[in-house]
Amino acid sequence: MSLSEFELISKISRLFKKLPDIDVGIGDDTAVVTLGSEKLLLTCDALVENSHFLLSWKSLVDDLFFYLGRKLVSVSVSDIASMGGAPLFSLITLGVNSSFSEPDLDKLYNGIRSALSDYGLSLVGGDTVRSENLFFDLFLTGKAKSGFMLRNSARPGELVFVTGTFGDAKAGLEQLLNGEITDSYLVNRFLNPTARLREGQRALSLGVKCGTDVSDGLVFNLYTISEASGVRIDVDLSLIPISENLINYCGKERALSFALFGGEDYELIITAPEDKEGELRKIGFKQIGKVSEGSGVYGNGKLLPKKGYDHLKGDDS
Ligand code: ADP
Ligand code: MG
Repeated sequence: MSLSEFELISKISRLFKKLPDIDVGIGDDTAVVTLGSEKLLLTCDALVENSHFLLSWKSLVDDLFFYLGRKLVSVSVSDIASMGGAPLFSLITLGVNSSFSEPDLDKLYNGIRSALSDYGLSLVGGDTVRSENLFFDLFLTGKAKSGFMLRNSARPGELVFVTGTFGDAKAGLEQLLNGEITDSYLVNRFLNPTARLREGQRALSLGVKCGTDVSDGLVFNLYTISEASGVRIDVDLSLIPISENLINYCGKERALSFALFGGEDYELIITAPEDKEGELRKIGFKQIGKVSEGSGVYGNGKLLPKKGYDHLKGDDS
């Protein structure tokens, strides 16, 4: 297909009307719908063989399917976290074939169970189909207790904050693709991300209105905020959190490029007024930039390219 993932989503979203009980439809990290007096969050994400993982990685990582099970849960929980919500119930579709053994299945579900228990949610069903490529898809519901954070709510004058460090996952993926693991911390950051659930909920409770998670790359997801909110974002490149492991792995210059454009970090980006900085710092957020009138995402005053990892194209786009 010649369309990028994002062109495809916007084409699909034009086909559907927004009904009155849909608070947020296609286009944010989760949908938000009204169910009686409750707001329900809905999201799904898939891990697909040859697009998100390779079977050959089994020779590098003993418990590959355990980690893929954990990752399957964490990536959807991350979308709920970015809204400030709490995850509730999940369903899983498995696409399997004869290359998938019973020990693989046991490992996958042990991983799924361990992550579900970490985040305090349950599996209530799913579907199993035969498929040439293995795939695992998780549908997740969540609850928004008091409002939710959206990509379109950044306002000029606010600051930009993030959790964690960036670029580690890309370095983990690179090692797996090269067939040699030299830093298992970085590989773990790719195979076993942690959804920033508590940080998202706490930010929301401090009154933060704008948030998203970083699945496609820091700059790419800053663009999703910038475009949805109609604002300019300026990043101070020296403030971008980068791990010691990443710098040791590939040097400062490449580390910055991985941090800006590598994907699958599953950290949070929020924007908030300056007076919240102290409280946000206490709950793990670091300031990296500011929001102003205009458009585009800038690093040290220079326009940054909107590129990140696109799973459909399978390369940097
Ligand atoms: P994220 O990276 O946060 O999971 P995505 O980029 O996958 O978000 O999706 C962005 C938005 O597009 C979400 O609202 C998602 O529900 C919607 N979306 C993605 N793929 C499809 C699809 N095939 N049909 C309808 N909506 C989709
Ligand atoms: Mg997301």
